[in-house]
Amino acid sequence: MSEHHQICIIGSGPAGFTAALYASRARLDVVVFEGHQPGGQLTITTEVENYPGFEHGIMGPEMMDVFRKQSHRFGAQSIYETITSVDTSTRPFTLTSDRDKTYTCDSIIISTGAAAKLLGSKGEQEFMGFGVSACATCDGFFFKNQHVYVVGGGDTAMEEANYLTRFASKVTILHRRDEFRASKIMLERCQNNPKIEFMVNTTVDEYIGETLPSGLRKLTSLKLRNTVTNEENIVPADGIFVAIGHKPNTDLFKGLIDMDETGYIQTVGKSSYTNIEGVFACGDAQDSVYRQAITAAGSGCMAAIDAERWLEAQHG
Ligand code: NDP
Repeated sequence: MSEHHQICIIGSGPAGFTAALYASRARLDVVVFEGHQPGGQLTITTEVENYPGFEHGIMGPEMMDVFRKQSHRFGAQSIYETITSVDTSTRPFTLTSDRDKTYTCDSIIISTGAAAKLLGSKGEQEFMGFGVSACATCDGFFFKNQHVYVVGGGDTAMEEANYLTRFASKVTILHRRDEFRASKIMLERCQNNPKIEFMVNTTVDEYIGETLPSGLRKLTSLKLRNTVTNEENIVPADGIFVAIGHKPNTDLFKGLIDMDETGYIQTVGKSSYTNIEGVFACGDAQDSVYRQAITAAGSGCMAAIDAERWLEAQHG
């Protein structure tokens, strides 16, 4: 028989755990499916300086551990599985996990977040993990005293570039335009960092490398293209970090839940209601605008309150 819970939360970032905290404090039976990145995107970031309440900042993984423990304190439980299918055609809803287990629930809160986007240029997949990365925190350490590139012109790119100067001898930021989406303070931090240089109007057309005698691959250079003149040139490179934004992790709900053309779940008005009664969405999975830990947490709180009131109305 399937395990039943009142609320199943899919996703374990700030949105999911805040929803879990509020729902468990409302004495609801709630579980969080942690998915393949328990704690979400903040577990692969360094210091979080802009989450109110932490005057001196806090490391991302530590912050998520606090979120988890705080929700567990009131009875929420974590299940370390990934949900692979969702059936909302009948109630209770049915979820199936990657361990082939099925769960039923009265209400679902979607907090599946978003994941890093890649360029899709030639060689990107081939050299992923062999010089190409989408996470400076995870892989920066491997580039001690080397020259690395960062692609992107937003806050993520600036943050990654700054972080990488702890290890790399030189960091070059490649941006496809000559104007930056990044916030002034983060851009200035990079502009004032002597280890960082900028190449604007530039994109990566190809990742080039070799296969070592050991069988491992190694990135050696990049084919860059000037986006204004279309001029191409090949530059040596030890590593490159792609930091061009994120894609919502909502494939699981395609055809089931209303989303916009880029896959962000559409919620109704200022609420967390989706087009399916009893299914609520919060965090980066439904927010293409703010995408901050604090806004995700706030929307997780909204989803828990919406779910609680909806459940109450069902039984009232
Ligand atoms: P953004 O969408 O803000 O920026 C993405 C960048 O990548 C843009 O410069 C964009 O270029 C570029 N880009 C996108 N697609 C491509 C492509 N195919 N080829 C080349 N370049 C591409 O995403 P971020 O992840 O940087 O930031 C997301 C949100 O998270 C923002 O709100 C940001 O403020 C926030 N954030 C905050 C941080 C903090 O405060 N500590 C840290 C990190 C993120 P173009 O400008 O031309 O579109």
